[in-house]
Amino acid sequence: MLLPDNIKQWLNERGISDGAIITNNLSWNGSQIVIPIYNPDGIFLFNKYRRNPFGPDDVPKYKYDPGTTTQLFNAHKIVDAPFIIIVEGELDVLRLESVGLWAVSSTGGAGSFKDEWLPIFTGKNIFICYDNDDAGMKGATKLLTKLPARLVIIPRQEGIKDITDYLQKPEHRLSSLLLAAESYPILSEPVPEFKYIKDVKAQTKKYKYFLEQLLVKERNAKNAGEPFAHFDYIRQLLLNTIENLNREIRKMRYFKHPASDGSGKNGITEEDIRQAKEVPIETLYSGSLRKQGNRAVGLCPFHDETSASFVIYLQQNHFFCFGCSAKTDAIDFVMRRDGCKFHEAVKTLLNK
Ligand SMILES: [Zn+2]
Repeated sequence: MLLPDNIKQWLNERGISDGAIITNNLSWNGSQIVIPIYNPDGIFLFNKYRRNPFGPDDVPKYKYDPGTTTQLFNAHKIVDAPFIIIVEGELDVLRLESVGLWAVSSTGGAGSFKDEWLPIFTGKNIFICYDNDDAGMKGATKLLTKLPARLVIIPRQEGIKDITDYLQKPEHRLSSLLLAAESYPILSEPVPEFKYIKDVKAQTKKYKYFLEQLLVKERNAKNAGEPFAHFDYIRQLLLNTIENLNREIRKMRYFKHPASDGSGKNGITEEDIRQAKEVPIETLYSGSLRKQGNRAVGLCPFHDETSASFVIYLQQNHFFCFGCSAKTDAIDFVMRRDGCKFHEAVKTLLNK
């Protein structure tokens, strides 16, 4: 059924034009706004539902038809678009469409962007314009590792969370946000396969240099009273990459003079290392752990502490201590715990 007048007015007040409402076939099911979702060929797939903005807010904001999968909303309209703004919600897409811009969103929210959508964006100018909360910033920076996009930062202000909120004030211009958006191509460049340790070291140096520049930018943003929270997430991504490269160096050193069967010194093979890393860190930890979703938290075995800052990421089987920065995999854990060498830790883990 047609949208009730007050709902249509609410959408209009949020900058969504009648044209966008009609061409996107928004309707009303008696208690929710019905948003039809199409595939990239324009074939209808399922409905997503936005709760009544004037109704109770103790019901979920969004619902879906049963059995639906995450889709790229508006994908069928951006085939010829020269530039695309990736936003978090369908209504943000419609807000931008109302002023003639091309936008898309994942129907599953900030953290649910699928790799299979990446080809859609090839050769286009891309802006990522997620909400300015932590989930949004985290999702946006994760996307920067997949797409060479520019990151649009919506200033954190009272009552402003997404691009639609931001554009509610007439003095706010989208163009100034887009112009200020920075790209971080280093994040989406694939890390090459290395043959020599010196090449890994050169690559590490490149990241470290970028990291230094990032710190300067962050300091400048802080001094100028500009948003800076995204720098934290970008830094984390870079530190992870550097950490991976360091581990690569360690491994290359170990396998520098392989035996005839491909094993490194002390007869350890790549397969041994793989198996050793699979030993759950939980089983190596002797203390009590508190489980929180995909994490287990406890006192750090590697430094003195009274409140728990040691985290095991159960799915990845990695650990990190927020107190002393001890980190990574089961092999690292045993090396630290027993004060032993790499190959000794691998052997200990295999005998477990
Ligand atoms: Zn620690």
